[in-house]
Amino acid sequence: MSNEKIWLSSPHMGGKEQEFINEAFEQNWIAPLGPNVSGFEQDIKDYIFPEGENSAEVVALSSGTAALHLALIQLGVKAGDEVLCQSMTFAASANPIVYLGATPVFIDSEEDTLNICPIELERAIQDRIAKGKKPKGIIAVHLYGTPYKIDEINKVASAYGIPVIEDSAEALGSSYKGKKCGSFGEFSILSFNGNKIITTSGGGALVTKNQQAKEKTIFLATQARDAAPHYQHSEIGYNYRLSNVSAGIGRGQMLVLDERVAARRAMHEFYVDLFSEINGVEVHSVPDNDYFSNHWLSVVKVDKKQTGGINRENLRLFLEENNIESRPLWKPMHMQPIFKDSPFYGKGVAEALFENGLCLPSGSNLSDEDRARISRAVKECFKK
Ligand SMILES: *Cc1c(COP(=O)(O)O)cnc(C)c1O
Repeated sequence: MSNEKIWLSSPHMGGKEQEFINEAFEQNWIAPLGPNVSGFEQDIKDYIFPEGENSAEVVALSSGTAALHLALIQLGVKAGDEVLCQSMTFAASANPIVYLGATPVFIDSEEDTLNICPIELERAIQDRIAKGKKPKGIIAVHLYGTPYKIDEINKVASAYGIPVIEDSAEALGSSYKGKKCGSFGEFSILSFNGNKIITTSGGGALVTKNQQAKEKTIFLATQARDAAPHYQHSEIGYNYRLSNVSAGIGRGQMLVLDERVAARRAMHEFYVDLFSEINGVEVHSVPDNDYFSNHWLSVVKVDKKQTGGINRENLRLFLEENNIESRPLWKPMHMQPIFKDSPFYGKGVAEALFENGLCLPSGSNLSDEDRARISRAVKECFKK
C-alpha cells in the first residue's frame, strides 16, 4: 500500500477545463474579460438562482477577498466605522474591514452550525449602539459548508436595519430551506481558491441584488474609469476582475459541481460511519433537514474525557505520522494577535471549538485506498 500524502482538500479537475482554456487561447481572449468570464457568471447565476426568481447578478473577481472588499465599499464602510463579523472564520472574512480603516467587532459562534450566534449578535448591536456607533454591516459565514442560522440572523439584522454580507466562500452547493447559499445576503461572496469545492486556481465572485450593483462592482473592479475617451477617475478603483483564462477553468468546474458536492457529502458519511464506533468523537452534522451542507470539510469534535485522554492534537499528530493531513478549525479572530484590540461578544463557544475541533481529509478526489488508510489510522489512534 502506498504512503503518499493524503491532503485535506486538493484541486479536482473535471476534464473540460482545458477545452475552455484552449478556446481562450485560440480567440486571444487572454484578458480580465471575455466570453469565459461572462459564461462563468451566467453559469453561477443559473446555479444559485435556478428559477431565475429575482434580479440578482454575479460578478467574477480575482478572489473572494476582493469580493468582500467591494461589498464593504458598496455598503459605504469608511474609516472609523464598525462592522460585525463572525469570529470563527478565515482571516479573509475580516481583513477587508481593516483595508477600509474600519474596526471589526467579533461575534461568537453557536454550537448547532458553528456559525455566528444570533443572541450574541443582538447583544453586540445593542451595546455598540449604546456606545454611540451603529455597525455598518454584518459578515456571516457558512463555515465548512454548513449554512448559518439564516432566519435568526436575518431577523436580528432587519430589526436594526443592518445589511448582511453572506460569506459563502466555503458553501457553494449548500442550501437552506431549498434555497442556495450565495442567495441570502445584501451581497454574497464566493471563492474559487485552490482548496475550495471548485476552483479557478484563484478567483472569487460577488453576488449582487441587481444590475445596477453589478455595474458598480465591475466599475470598481476595473480601476473606476469615468465615461471618457481618456483615462479619467473620480473614484478610487481596484484591479479585481477575473481573467478569461481562469474563468475557463471555472466553466469546466461548474459542469461537475454537483458531483463534487455528492463526493464531499459521501466523505462526511464515511466519517459518521467510522466514528460511530469511537467514543468521544462527534462528527459535526447539520441541525435538521432545513440545512443542506456541501460538507466542504468534514469536522470532528474530540472530547478527551470520553476518549480515554486522547485529544484533538493527539489525533492530528497521529494522522500526520501516517502522512495524512488534518487541521484544527479556524483559530477565532478575537484570539489572533493582529485583532487583539478588537471588541468581541461571546461566551467561549468558538474557543472550545478551536481547542477540540479537527478538519479531516475531505477532497472529492480521495480513493477507496485513501479511505482505508484513514480508517486504519483513526482506529489505531483510538485503540487502547
Ligand atoms: C477562502 C475564504 C475566503 C477568501 O477567499 P479567497 O478567494 O481565498 O480570497 C473568505 N472567507 C472564507 C470563509 C474562506 O474560506
